[in-house]
Amino acid sequence: MNEKLSQMKPSASLVFMTRAKEMQKTDPGVIGLAGGEPDFATPDRISMAAMRALTEGDTHYVVGPGIPELRKGIAKKLREENGIICDENCILVTPGGKNAIYLAVHAILNEGDEAIILDPAWVSYEPIIQAAGGVPVHVKLDNRNDYRITEAALEAAVTDKTRLLIVNYPNNPTGRILHEDEADVLEAFLLRHPGVYLLSDEVYERIVYDGKQSLSMGARPAVAERVVTVNGFSKSVAMTGWRMGYLACCKEVFQAAYKLYQHSLSCMSGFMQRGAVEAFKCQREIEDMRAIYEQRRNMFVGILNSIPGVHCTLPEGAFYAWVHYDVKGMDSAAICEYLLEKARVVGMPGTAYGEYDVPSMRFSFANATDELETAANRIKEAILALYK
Ligand code: GLU
Repeated sequence: MNEKLSQMKPSASLVFMTRAKEMQKTDPGVIGLAGGEPDFATPDRISMAAMRALTEGDTHYVVGPGIPELRKGIAKKLREENGIICDENCILVTPGGKNAIYLAVHAILNEGDEAIILDPAWVSYEPIIQAAGGVPVHVKLDNRNDYRITEAALEAAVTDKTRLLIVNYPNNPTGRILHEDEADVLEAFLLRHPGVYLLSDEVYERIVYDGKQSLSMGARPAVAERVVTVNGFSKSVAMTGWRMGYLACCKEVFQAAYKLYQHSLSCMSGFMQRGAVEAFKCQREIEDMRAIYEQRRNMFVGILNSIPGVHCTLPEGAFYAWVHYDVKGMDSAAICEYLLEKARVVGMPGTAYGEYDVPSMRFSFANATDELETAANRIKEAILALYK
């Protein structure tokens, strides 16, 4: 057996999502807020276009890095919405953003190369780096400093083996967006370390609140060549089950990633890509969903913050409530298990994201509004019961 894989952690998101599904078989009242998955249906025009393509017989290999209409559409979207100038020939359409990350990390790292991850971080960065033979280097961002990126933290982690830095804004799990001064820190870091690539996972980039805007590092000309942008359709257009993501990068990374793609996937399905092309015409639907997430955020976080010993900073983007606890000396795992049993609400323990300094949990608020309200009230009741 492959030793690297036998030591790899399973995906905590998928473990807890499965756990919720298992519990729901005997107790349909269990509320699963572990996985970040929009409850909205994929906009009709996308599904209709895919169905049309299917009935037209688009069911064969579509050899190439993506159909030209889709790659062109992505290049245009990146240019107009994100300020990223990327030749459409350097765009790779992948099965989800996760696979885009997998390919890019494999394209960049050699055995033993170091890749920096900023904790708290999404659960799959570390295993992907390990799968590529790289060494994950965790930089713990300070919760007392609002998880801000600092030059000192990055410089303390960098070595002559560092080849990659992974950032994810809007952030999963904290809900923070990248602020201009932090983007300056990242740019200066890349300029000081010309052998380092930056992978910017921007999959939540359309889900931002209070009129704020998500920043793209690939829009900074001084470092654009070394920025690999990952994005996808799962979160912004409610297409999680379609597995449609993409990678925009320089020619060198593209060519290496595309070789691995050819040998592992061959190609993406044509009918699904023809559906995804329609996503660029779904601005109204994207905005409608975003506005609903904002209302849900306000309600859900509002109830959580009314609970003694519970604190949640209002997320600026994505659809996660990142909750800190100060209850009866319980740690993240204990609170998570307690709420799962007592409140019948499944969330994620903060330790899954590398947060060990403060008891914490992540709840997705991409569920239906009434379900979220019930979940928040059940959490409140369960925590209040601890004080009796
Ligand atoms: N990215 C989502 C999450 O963090 C979906 C599950 C996963 O891929 O980890 O919940």
